[in-house]
Amino acid sequence: MRYCPFLVHNVCRYRSLNYKHLIQRLNSQSQYHQRSITSSAGTAEYDLVVIGGGSGGLACAKEAAGFGKRVVVLDYVAASPRGMYVNFRILRTQHGIGGTCVNVGCIPKKLMHEASLLGHALNDSVYYGWQTPQNITHDWSKLVENVQNYVRSLNWGHRVQLKDKEVEYLNAKGSFVDENTVKAVTQNGTETLLRAKNVVVATGARPRYLNEVSGANEFCITSDDIFSLQKPPGKTLVVGGSYVALECAGFLQGLGYPTSVMVRSICLRGFDQQMASLVTDHMSSMNVNFIRSSSPQKVELQENGQLLVTWIQSGDQKQDVFDTVMMAVGRDPVTRHLGLENTGVKLHTNGKILSVNGEQTNVKHIYAIGDILEGGVELTPVAIKAGKLLAARLFSDSEQCMDYEKAATTVFTPLEYAAVGLSEEVALRRYGDENIEVYHAFYKPLQYTVSQTPADQCYMKVICLREADQPIVGIHLLGPHAGEMMQGFAVAIQCGVTYKQLSLTVGIHPTCAEEVVKMHITKRSGADPTVTGC
Ligand code: FAD
Ligand code: NDP
Repeated sequence: MRYCPFLVHNVCRYRSLNYKHLIQRLNSQSQYHQRSITSSAGTAEYDLVVIGGGSGGLACAKEAAGFGKRVVVLDYVAASPRGMYVNFRILRTQHGIGGTCVNVGCIPKKLMHEASLLGHALNDSVYYGWQTPQNITHDWSKLVENVQNYVRSLNWGHRVQLKDKEVEYLNAKGSFVDENTVKAVTQNGTETLLRAKNVVVATGARPRYLNEVSGANEFCITSDDIFSLQKPPGKTLVVGGSYVALECAGFLQGLGYPTSVMVRSICLRGFDQQMASLVTDHMSSMNVNFIRSSSPQKVELQENGQLLVTWIQSGDQKQDVFDTVMMAVGRDPVTRHLGLENTGVKLHTNGKILSVNGEQTNVKHIYAIGDILEGGVELTPVAIKAGKLLAARLFSDSEQCMDYEKAATTVFTPLEYAAVGLSEEVALRRYGDENIEVYHAFYKPLQYTVSQTPADQCYMKVICLREADQPIVGIHLLGPHAGEMMQGFAVAIQCGVTYKQLSLTVGIHPTCAEEVVKMHITKRSGADPTVTGC
């Protein structure tokens, strides 16, 4: 296969690469891949076979190759089952190597979040003296085109990195024949058998559909489709109340598409619920319409191409018409059709792989990392770190294990919510009310003052144990750039930071982050936690 010069030119634009050099490398890589497939006819031997070329699989494969091991990574992407319903035709969505994060997750999501924030900044800019024209419109197609160009550049970048690290790559679907043999089947049906001393399963998860809701499978999209949607989404219903639902609803509303979120129970289950309420309060203040205590009953296509959704709320049947309905009702692990039954690897009832020791399954040389691992955390850096640490334990004298509890995360809603460690509920359950101290503050970001942006939900809290210097067990930040703020505090938590050390730290003025080190009002005191003055 030869590579399209136009596409490669685009890739170079986005990644500051030398065009001629990259096209030479890719063409040589394509021959190399061809060689590896044909020469692998029969059975090739590997130190490590990785099934799944997403965040975890790629990181693990590259790390293992760095120890001089013979590694092959298999990646195969099934098109989204339904894709987009455009002009009465179904367009199924496909993507390249790199897994969820790169193609249909973190990266396109964060870029669309940024697009939405830029819209707010345009409004605010007037207060800072910019003669910004009113009624600026947004071009969805331009956004999708540029986001997808960047995504494609990352796909190519991954392939170049595999080549550089001497990891063999098969664009093929992997499944177990027995516990040491993996069958790779390419798109054109070519089969290759791979003998493996070790196998890492890193096949991730895909969006769930609501089979019981009539019309949901036929007419609704998921997060696998939204970032490459060819037509503007228009008035949108997002079903679900978690990360994916709230993030997508947030940027859609911010881009100017009237958005509703249908939540059957609570939002952001598993997160600190005080913070979750503030997140949704802020979204409501942006006119996101929350339809509470409801689940869709049916979705019907109307003659004009719009979708009529019916649901029950407080015993009453309700209906509304939307241009797009997006299901964000969770993700199913990709363990079916993997031939795991040929290995004896045990699964949880939810379909995820059970481990007996870190990432090791009940079959000693078969491992699972990333979203597929029961008890893990479904985040890209977690999958990457777990993959790298596993490779180091397998192929060097490292004994370093993955710590899942101290992983920080950010929900990229219009007002970002970043968290590390325990929620207040979990801290209370684990230690009891008498044994924890919660410091908190409502603060106003300086940039909101001139632009007169309401800051009612900008809030932070630090949860400490009431002993010695008060070890910190959780930090929660809600405000602009909370994700950027949290990373350094996550390091501090990793080092076992105490409230005493936090309060001895000198702030950086004037920033939002300085409010974290200045926090002194406890919830127990009942005093007003609103920050005043400079
Ligand atoms: P994946 O990245 O999903 O990779 C699995 C790969 O294996 C896929 O390419 C798949 O097609 C392939 N595969 C499956 N079966 C086979 C087979 N039989 N043979 C060969 N290949 C196979 N996390 C964050 O940290 N920050 C965020 O901001 C964030 N945003 C997100 C936004 C959305 C909309 C979603 C859906 C997720 C987001 N996540 C985020 C979560 C993050 O994307 C995942 O946790 C991460 O990608 C998991 O990595 P993984 O390696 O386990 O699986
Ligand atoms: P979750 O499993 O976290 O949430 C699923 C949501 O769908 C819940 O609100 C659930 O409600 C709701 N739901 C489930 N079934 C139905 C139904 N039949 N009708 C109505 N609602 C339903 O899934 P997500 O897809 O949001 O996220 C998956 C993972 O991806 C996250 O755990 C996270 O780790 C990762 N991710 C990370 C991001 C980041 O780091 N910024 C962003 C996005 C995802 P209920 O609570 O009632 O069950």
